Parts: sequence; structure tokens; C-alpha cells
Amino acid sequence: MNNIVLEQTDRTRIHRLPERGNYDRATIDAILDEALICHVGFVVEGRPVVIPTIHARVGDHLYFHGSPAAGMLRTLRGGLDACVTVTLLDGLVLARSAFHSSMNYRSVVVFGKAEEVSDRDEKLRVLEALVEHVCRGRSADARGPSEMELKQTLVLRVPIDEASAKIRIGPPKDDAEDYGLPIWAGILPLALIPSEAISDNTLAVPEYVSKYRR
Ligand SMILES: Cc1cc2nc3c(=O)[nH]c(=O)nc-3n(C[C@H](O)[C@H](O)[C@H](O)COP(=O)(O)OP(=O)(O)OC[C@H]3O[C@@H](n4cnc5c(N)ncnc54)[C@H](O)[C@@H]3O)c2cc1C
Repeated sequence: MNNIVLEQTDRTRIHRLPERGNYDRATIDAILDEALICHVGFVVEGRPVVIPTIHARVGDHLYFHGSPAAGMLRTLRGGLDACVTVTLLDGLVLARSAFHSSMNYRSVVVFGKAEEVSDRDEKLRVLEALVEHVCRGRSADARGPSEMELKQTLVLRVPIDEASAKIRIGPPKDDAEDYGLPIWAGILPLALIPSEAISDNTLAVPEYVSKYRR
């Protein structure tokens, strides 16, 4: 368990409802690890771009992978500033008023410059971590990358040292005079729950698939 508390910077300081902010690496890491995907934001020729992609955290870095031809990886490879966002949606908060209606969530924002992972061993470790991040147990079964596939895969990493988490939990917070209104209010919990697996062959579905949980 990582018990480092990150320093707040001008970029990571939460202004609205700062009591929901959290800078503990343990909290940040847990959100990054649970989220299946992230969104990577950066500026190209003065214009903002935000691209969804798979990530994996290994220690103090967040990793991304893909084709060297992919715009996001090609651009970030040059050491550009990136902003990575991860969101876990935990529920709808249906308040008595539209104004106070909200969502329960756990989210993380990470700022940093990406750098290419060129060390072969680290690259292999990260590619395995990406498979495990998506489906724990899968890397023992799936065929690993060939030399050609390794060459065709670009791996980038961003340090997790300038980051913030924000968490909303609990019921709606209505105005005092609205609590008497005859309007249902409460939380509708939401979660990512897998459906039954659809086989592509006649082999038995492995337990890490049939019992998949985030
Ligand atoms: C699912 C979801 C729905 C939301 N819906 C709304 C909405 O409808 N309207 C709205 O105003 N806000 C919404 N928020 C909250 C929103 O993300 C911002 O926190 C909010 O706009 C206030 O930002 P700020 O002014 O405090 O920070 P900003 O000045 O915008 O950002 C400063 C820094 O604070 C940190 N930060 C801000 N927000 C987050 C976050 N969510 N997670 C981690 N770090 C953060 C970042 O490091 C950021 O660079 C939602 C959040 C989530 C996850």
C-alpha cells in the first residue's frame, strides 16, 4: 500500500468542494487500478484533443500502448504535456431539485510528460501488466507478443507525481425547504457488471472470465 501524499500544485488544486479532493497515492492508485480505461488530453497545434485508451499502472507510472502510427502515441512520444483522466461512476444522485442532483464518483486527474519505454524487459512487463489490468489471470493463457508485434507496439509512461483524486459519496444534499416536497429522492447505484461470456470456440470458459469482477 502506497502511503505517499502528493503535493498540491497550481494545476492539481481543487477549487470547488475541496473537501472531496484527495492526494493520497493509495487512493489515486486504487482508482487508476479499478478503472478499465482512461482519457488522455493534450494540445496539438494549439487545439485540445482527448483520446480514450487503455492504461495500466505499474508502481509509480501510468502506461499506455498502441501502434506507433496512432496519433495520440505519436504526438505524446515527443515529450508533450498530457493530462490523463479516469472516472468511476458509482451512482446517480437524484435530489429533490434538479439543481442539487449529482453523481457519486471517484475520479483521478494526472498531469505529466510521457516518455517512451524502450527497455525490452520493461516493455514486456508493461504489456503483461496491460493484459492483467484488463483481465486478471489472462496473461498466463494469452500468447505473448512476438518480436514483430513488440516492434509494432509503442509503450509510453507518465509518472504519477502530479495528480489529484476527487470523490463524491452519499445521499443528495437538498435545500432545507425542499426536504418536505413529495418528490422521490435518493441514489441509484451504478456498477460495471459483466454479462455472460460469449465463446469463440468450444473450450471451457476460464474462471477469470466467468467470475470477472473489477
Ligand atoms: C462523473 C462526474 C460528473 C461530474 N459532473 C459535474 C457537473 O455536471 N458540473 C460540474 O461543475 N462538475 C462536475 N463534476 C466535477 C468536476 O469534475 C470538477 O471537479 C468541478 O467542475 C469542479 O472543478 P474545480 O473548479 O474544483 O477544479 P478545476 O479548476 O476545474 O480543476 C483544478 C484541478 O483540480 C483537480 N480536479 C478537478 N476536478 C477533479 C476531479 N473530478 N477528479 C480529480 N481531480 C479533479 C485537477 O487536478 C484539476 O486540474 C463531475 C465529476 C465527475 C467525476
